[in-house]
Amino acid sequence: MPRLYESRKRVLVTGGAGFLGSHLIDRLLADGHEVLCVDNLFTGTKRNIDHLHGQPRFEFMRHDVTLPLYVEVDEIYNLACPASPVHYQHDPVQTTKTSVHGAINMLGLAKRLKCRILQASTSEVYGDPAVHPQREDYWGNVNPIGPRSCYDEGKRCAETLFFDYNRQHQLDIKVARIFNTYGPRMHRADGRVVSNFIVQALTNEPITLYGDGRQTRSFCYVDDLIDGLVRLMNSPAGFIGPVNLGNPGEFSMLELAREVVRQTDSASEIVYRPLPADDPKQRQPDIALAQAKLGWQPEVPLSEGLKPTIAYFRALID
Ligand code: NAD
Ligand code: UDP
Ligand code: UDP
Repeated sequence: MPRLYESRKRVLVTGGAGFLGSHLIDRLLADGHEVLCVDNLFTGTKRNIDHLHGQPRFEFMRHDVTLPLYVEVDEIYNLACPASPVHYQHDPVQTTKTSVHGAINMLGLAKRLKCRILQASTSEVYGDPAVHPQREDYWGNVNPIGPRSCYDEGKRCAETLFFDYNRQHQLDIKVARIFNTYGPRMHRADGRVVSNFIVQALTNEPITLYGDGRQTRSFCYVDDLIDGLVRLMNSPAGFIGPVNLGNPGEFSMLELAREVVRQTDSASEIVYRPLPADDPKQRQPDIALAQAKLGWQPEVPLSEGLKPTIAYFRALID
């Protein structure tokens, strides 16, 4: 039987109660789709999806993606996985299981349903990169046995699984390599640098700079990132990625700390702490592929994106 609303899809978002997942769900609902959010609430929270209570096109299911999932959907975004180093190192075996078993289950689901599936991969597949900026054809420099490996290697293995399901079962896949993204609904205690610095600045606590603060990251505002994910999902079947999604604006952590202090008018001082093991020294996406294939590039510079992010944490703390 033809569907009643041809353009309306039923979309599964795993990890939908997390930071990126909850923004993606807002976008999909705004576009008129139905959304099934699957999350085990390990790092995500119902607060991120509270505002959807009573929305008839939204459904929440508490479930761990390392276990099989039998549902009926038209499209899958696989985002389930803790993303901050503090969280993913809390239970590293579970982190690898989430990436690997989670990918197998969601790919098995997509295979049964013959539906398109997008994987939220990461710039961490490049490890501590010897090539700068990072292009998609760079194979990376990853320690397989360090404290970050559960996340990096889990995500690399998930990419392998996606490409093998594509080659072996002709599955319709998309793979996004997401670079550091920030914005409202980040977890205030997840240890990531943007949330740490803002919370510290707003509470006039010392700003904890790891190492000498000269290591760099490139920060993408969440709305830009979500737009990139949706464009990738809706791109022609011939384009599967992997494709970098991130903002090429590159900043040292010292520069970030100073900008946060300036925007919050904080009395916090900067203190130096040891650099964590295997901390990448530099990171910047080459986004030529996303520009060419998706017509996508980020619009929000760091100085602008920090404003709503700071406002979010200010409200949370008050
Ligand atoms: P997040 O921690 O806020 O969200 C992850 C969500 O996945 C949480 O709601 C968590 O409860 C859920 N989850 C974890 N394990 C699960 C499991 N086994 N079963 C079901 N749900 C589970 O992190 P985020 O920043 O929103 O990241 C979302 C995705 O994007 C992750 O896959 C992450 O690796 C990827 N990513 C994020 C960034 C970034 O900068 N935010 C960068 C690169 C990649
Ligand atoms: N799976 C699932 N939902 C489905 C279909 C499959 O969770 O609707 C899981 C199931 O646990 C299976 C995995 O996906 O083990 C991989 O499925 P696939 O069909 O590729 O392999 P197989 O069933 O042969 O192991
Ligand atoms: N960092 C820092 N102070 C903090 C938290 C992080 O200087 O309080 C540094 C961290 O060492 C890394 C960078 O900021 O060099 C980004 O860290 P994050 O955990 O946000 O992301 P990732 O390392 O995964 O890119």
